[in-house]
Amino acid sequence: MKLTKQQRVTLRDKFGGRCAYCGCELGKTFHADHIEPIKRDWVNGGCEHPERNTLENFNPSCPSCNIVKSSMPLESFRKVIAGFIKSLNRDSTQYKFAKRYGLLEEREVEVRFWFEEFTN
Ligand SMILES: [Zn+2]
Repeated sequence: MKLTKQQRVTLRDKFGGRCAYCGCELGKTFHADHIEPIKRDWVNGGCEHPERNTLENFNPSCPSCNIVKSSMPLESFRKVIAGFIKSLNRDSTQYKFAKRYGLLEEREVEVRFWFEEFTN
């Protein structure tokens, strides 16, 4: 579904001009994310859920959230983000040093998306 200019304006304002997921301010190049993925089939050109290609199924997203979410449903995206701490602790020497020297602190919080907290 190709959004019209007016639909993109409406979508951008859906959550106060911010990314539905991380809450950062959206630039002009924000992405229109399918909340429930349509799972495009790149090989055959079709999609598994064409009925999800509606304006209601779009969230405004910053490019990086959209790229990480990819074609994941919301709860999988939440799990992936929560798992970043584990991989940072396993793989990133810089992260481990920053933590050891008190430059950052981990918190036991559940991943909450901006749109879940947003009220008009
Ligand atoms: Zn974002």
